[in-house]
Amino acid sequence: MGLTDRLVRGLMPLVPRPLVWTVARRYVAGADVRDAVRRIKALRADGFGTIIDVLGEGIASLDEARAAAQEYIRALDALRSVDPDCPISVKPTHLGLSLDRDVCAELLDDLCRRAAAESRRVRFEMEDAPTIDGTLDVFEEVAKRRDNIGCVLQSRLFRTAKDVERLLRSVPALDVRLVKGIYLEPESIAWTEGPDISRSYVELARALLDGGARLGLATHDDEVARACEQLIAERGLDSPPTAQRTYEFQCLMGVRRRFAEALRDGGHRVRIYVPYGKDWHAYSMRRMGKNPDIARHVIRAAFGREG
Ligand SMILES: Cc1cc2nc3c(=O)[nH]c(=O)nc-3n(C[C@H](O)[C@H](O)[C@H](O)COP(=O)(O)OP(=O)(O)OC[C@H]3O[C@@H](n4cnc5c(N)ncnc54)[C@H](O)[C@@H]3O)c2cc1C
Repeated sequence: MGLTDRLVRGLMPLVPRPLVWTVARRYVAGADVRDAVRRIKALRADGFGTIIDVLGEGIASLDEARAAAQEYIRALDALRSVDPDCPISVKPTHLGLSLDRDVCAELLDDLCRRAAAESRRVRFEMEDAPTIDGTLDVFEEVAKRRDNIGCVLQSRLFRTAKDVERLLRSVPALDVRLVKGIYLEPESIAWTEGPDISRSYVELARALLDGGARLGLATHDDEVARACEQLIAERGLDSPPTAQRTYEFQCLMGVRRRFAEALRDGGHRVRIYVPYGKDWHAYSMRRMGKNPDIARHVIRAAFGREG
């Protein structure tokens, strides 16, 4: 990362919240579930599937974990009349993983039970490296009882190939969202260069498809998407009608819309991830940290050097 990018990231915390919101609203539906519902309706009208996420992570008490679970229940209610097919996506530390693994598993199990009652799926996300063992343990435990749960795996990590082998053995009908990984991990445990992370992504996608997993290809990378399309075509996975396919592409709301449209127009199912919640500020700062161009624009506006 260059000096300017480091400077831009260093300045981001000083930007006033209202100004952050002017940019954040591209990535975040709003603070309330009704904001998410509005975005979901619009995305469905444009031919996209959706994923809903309640923003939040690293909570400090189990009461907050229970409150997060309640918000997910509200989201399930709100989705009923809007999108019968929209899964919910949950961060492990938002449900208390780092405080009490048993409580986290109970809350996740309850959400899966409620979601299953309306044929909806739940995705247990992946956070930074220290949380991975706990996340996979809870995921495997809940997957023994619920068949509507999936997890996320990150291609930047060396360990992921082994995790794929483990999960293909332990979880019947494994359902994985494959991502590069947003957390910058040390080079002792992760690839740090883009080409290595992308190569790992495609290798893992191949292993998961060949292992019979249901696969969410969550990327906005042209080359990675092209390589995955080739894997899909070689295996004839795009032959069944869209609703019966075992793969889909997934993108973040507000990121590379034309890329998502091109995949949709190419006949693939594409889901857009719609985050909402009162914790929009922390989430937005992370997204902008990932894209120094946007962050630079915000900094200029904040500190009077727009243009
Ligand atoms: C549906 C979904 C769910 C995810 N869930 C998780 C998760 O549980 N755990 C996790 O660690 N990561 C998660 N991620 C994030 C993921 O790990 C990557 O950080 C993110 O997708 C960027 O990687 P990329 O494959 O798009 O490739 P990149 O090489 O990072 O990006 C490809 C292109 O897209 C643009 N781009 C990518 N991201 C942004 C952005 N935020 N703003 C503007 N432009 C951008 C880049 O500028 C570049 O042009 C998720 C991503 C998606 C799409």
